[in-house]
Amino acid sequence: MVIQLFDDVSGGAGFATSAASHIDKLLTDMYDFLECDSCCESVCSTCLLDSNTRHDINHLDRHLALNWLSRDFKCFVSLAAKYNYLQGSKYCHESIKEAISHQINRGAKSVTLWLSDNLHEWDLNVREVHMFVYQLLQVNKVNLCLVVPLKRLSTCKLDSLKNRQRVDL
Ligand SMILES: [Zn+2]
Repeated sequence: MVIQLFDDVSGGAGFATSAASHIDKLLTDMYDFLECDSCCESVCSTCLLDSNTRHDINHLDRHLALNWLSRDFKCFVSLAAKYNYLQGSKYCHESIKEAISHQINRGAKSVTLWLSDNLHEWDLNVREVHMFVYQLLQVNKVNLCLVVPLKRLSTCKLDSLKNRQRVDL
């Protein structure tokens, strides 16, 4: 899939460069837009037809686009419903490391990582994790909290990380 983003302002206003930070909203809004409030048969001025697209009217069909995206498209660009209990949570297109770094650059002073219930998904003993935790604690000076499922506490892999980085549980 290719998405072409551009500013309506001649020469651009610089909004397109920040699109990656809002990709979940852009894609869900796009899908909602294709559903068309006027419920047209293929294309209309409520959805896809405007002065930029009028020359391509014979090639536009919102239903084909919706079918191509599939009904569950929004599930892939939204946070899974099972995480709704985490207040303020949202889908993130970046890696965890990138997302945390961006939030720290915006002034975050604490980081809470919720580890999954599946022990096999944890890679806490790899060097990259140790280096990142070190950077969070020693360089960025943030408070780090790891939330571990209670039933996994006795068999968790956190001992070496806890001892080496002095992470609170
Ligand atoms: Zn329409």
